[in-house]
Amino acid sequence: MQLYNTLSAEERAALIDEAGKQRLTLSFYAYARIEDPKKFRDDLFMAWEPLEVLGRIYVAHEGINAQLSLPADHFYEFRDTLETYDFMQGIRLNVAVEQNDHSFLKLTIKVRDKIVADGLNDDTFDVTNKGIHLGAADFNAMLDDPNTIVVDMRNHYESEIGHFVGSIKPDVDTFRESLPIIETQLSEFKEGKNLLMYCTGGIRCEKASAYFKHKGFNNVYQLEGGIIEYTRQVKAEGLQSKFIGKNFVFDHRLGERITDDIVSNCHQCGKPCDTHTNCANEACHLLFIQCEECAETFEGCCSTACNEIIHLPEDEQKALRRGIKNGNMIFKKGKSDVLTFRNSSPGVVGTAVAEPKRRFETTAKIKKAYVGKGIHFFPKASIGQFLVEEGELYVSNEILISGPTTGEQKLIIEEMFVNDQPATTARKGDLVSFKLDYRIRLSDKLYKIL
Ligand SMILES: [Zn+2]
Ligand SMILES: [Zn+2]
Repeated sequence: MQLYNTLSAEERAALIDEAGKQRLTLSFYAYARIEDPKKFRDDLFMAWEPLEVLGRIYVAHEGINAQLSLPADHFYEFRDTLETYDFMQGIRLNVAVEQNDHSFLKLTIKVRDKIVADGLNDDTFDVTNKGIHLGAADFNAMLDDPNTIVVDMRNHYESEIGHFVGSIKPDVDTFRESLPIIETQLSEFKEGKNLLMYCTGGIRCEKASAYFKHKGFNNVYQLEGGIIEYTRQVKAEGLQSKFIGKNFVFDHRLGERITDDIVSNCHQCGKPCDTHTNCANEACHLLFIQCEECAETFEGCCSTACNEIIHLPEDEQKALRRGIKNGNMIFKKGKSDVLTFRNSSPGVVGTAVAEPKRRFETTAKIKKAYVGKGIHFFPKASIGQFLVEEGELYVSNEILISGPTTGEQKLIIEEMFVNDQPATTARKGDLVSFKLDYRIRLSDKLYKIL
């Protein structure tokens, strides 16, 4: 049997439509001891492929973490395939709130070192000594306790569009970054306060709660089954949802609505908006929040620079993409300098009850700040050199070079040299140089586009 997907994403989407069957989107995880993850992976693939399971699944010696979709009428057969493993008997399957038949377009099962990249050395603490699991009703009650600190264990792009009222939302790109930050910031509360934590499906809190107990926090609680299970219980039991906004999910939907509150802003014009999108320029792919009007203005791009690129012929775009690897950079999102509106504060841990400051800007007009002047051009290497006279310049900044002969030239700095050394920041008084495919003139002006 083939262990790979033979159909393209487009063919899959067409097939799903033709089949006309309702699909369920669900997720689950289990920590366990798996001797041979490679064999486990192959067995799962062979069991699930005939059931038309699609999704993204990670397996490791420490367990399994799965997000997938399958035809509703295969659900019980699918559950049977899980029950053949002792550690997955009676496992809770989180069914997504909103169903979308195209949430996954292929089946990918990957063997990893860990099912969640937590950066922890598990041998140094007891990973089974977890926090107390709370259902939705108990979680709500504990939220009302003034002696409680509630921490969002997810990343900034997740908590930005939806969160529990009053939660601390660490400004981090990854889970592994968040653990030491939270520990430091909350160290004074180790003994007296209830540390209440939550994440999307509960998996991150499984390990984090054990870690914080190991670090000396006395009263550690976690949301059973995460936001997904919370939402299900809130609906089933008619409780008030203290989670507001959208729950970020890692499939094509990028988020499912929990309440009608819009708690974030368009990263380009600043108006209330919680629709995530990836920049239409394939070479950029930045994940950011964009309202409908800005989507139209920028044609789905994060910046005018990317918008110009998507209008180039396809082969020129391909040439530009060559050798560029964005990786996790796309999750910089609200922190990316190319975006014209940002509301993420520079602080490490956001303050509690920091509900969004509403700010409105009507046009996406480009603003710029003077940085310095051109002082030299090296024709052989096509390198322009500037003297920084004001402010700072960073790699990934979008800049404008302007002068009577040069005209107005925009570009994003991908690499630069500061005083002849590779660097990511240039400050006042520095000589900064970078590659340019045109000659600059002495005293051409360098601006940073804001
Ligand atoms: Zn907008
Ligand atoms: Zn872009």
